[in-house]
Amino acid sequence: MDTRTGHHATGEALRHRIIENKINIVLFDNCVVVTMDPRRRILRNGAIAVVGSTIAAVGDRSTVRAQYPDEPVKDLKGWLVMPGLVDGHVHLPQALLRGAADELPLHQWMSSRIFVLEGVFTPDDAKVAARLAIVEMLKAGTTTFLETLVLGRHALGELAEAIAETGIRAVLPRAVGDGGGYLDEAPLNEGLREPPDVAMQDAVSVAEHWKDSEQIKIWLGPRSTGGCPEPLLREVVQTARGNGLGIAHHYAMTDREVAYLRRNFQATPGEYLQRVGLLGPDVVLAHCSGLPPEEIPYLAGTGTSVVTCPTGPVSCSTQASTSRSGPTPTPPTMAPTSSVTSSGSPICRSSATTTPPSCRPRPCSRWQPSAARVRSPWTT
Ligand SMILES: [Zn+2]
Repeated sequence: MDTRTGHHATGEALRHRIIENKINIVLFDNCVVVTMDPRRRILRNGAIAVVGSTIAAVGDRSTVRAQYPDEPVKDLKGWLVMPGLVDGHVHLPQALLRGAADELPLHQWMSSRIFVLEGVFTPDDAKVAARLAIVEMLKAGTTTFLETLVLGRHALGELAEAIAETGIRAVLPRAVGDGGGYLDEAPLNEGLREPPDVAMQDAVSVAEHWKDSEQIKIWLGPRSTGGCPEPLLREVVQTARGNGLGIAHHYAMTDREVAYLRRNFQATPGEYLQRVGLLGPDVVLAHCSGLPPEEIPYLAGTGTSVVTCPTGPVSCSTQASTSRSGPTPTPPTMAPTSSVTSSGSPICRSSATTTPPSCRPRPCSRWQPSAARVRSPWTT
């Protein structure tokens, strides 16, 4: 399919285009193909024909080979070929900080180690960390990810260029905050503070540069509760909607956060989201581990996505929460979300379970096929 026009090329038209443009054709043969077609077929004796960057045919080996009898064949020897996975919650810079604070409770993990170390990052550090994280993601089959907090000191424009070179799809929300950290318990390091209006201008400017890209999306990422007061959060929502940007936000991570919302904003988590307008198909909320079940109706039906980060609550809850433990249950009435993955990449002690709206896997039109042995994505 032509992704610009959405039209399928006929066999004859495709052949002309191939000859005129010297497009490469490769037949990936002898593989198990997990499709994303309406019937979710798994073809145990499959083959895929790739023309340029377009999947031109998927099917039984004999059928596809008959369609492309003279093309180069790559024998995948029974490997699994599947659509790329999507990781919905990644912190690229923390790729370099793994193991630096694993023994600490959440608030100390943030304020006495991670914020301090991130507070001295240079743009080059951010690029090195991003490349490491992306290599790990690609090796695990992840082809799209959602970052959550790109800071001024990471140089969003440069970072986006470096990420684009890798070929992975990325959603990069620019962090916006007023200088506060998490609730009133984890102050932000001086090196992470920056004026919110500068951060939003940066996001809008870099987003304009990438506005036509299918690979890189720039969003806004208001800091967690405590780092982005209500008036600023409203401004972030307004700026994002005014510029067609999505929003990613850490939210309701712990029971203490829920209590903080009641104490400081006289609202339940759902009431607060509704009040500031932070609900909708352009919003991804990370964690929500502390979200009481009775709050789910505030989100249901709005199109809001929740990235539950199943491994995060195991750590955050046992160390930081007062009454909940174990992985976050997936709210059954939430807006439909796709499955996902863990890439094993550095991720706020977490990995994703849902897919941000703008990076849901698409039908195979521009899918870059990758082959991998059947194995757990956690064992890279
Ligand atoms: Zn996070």
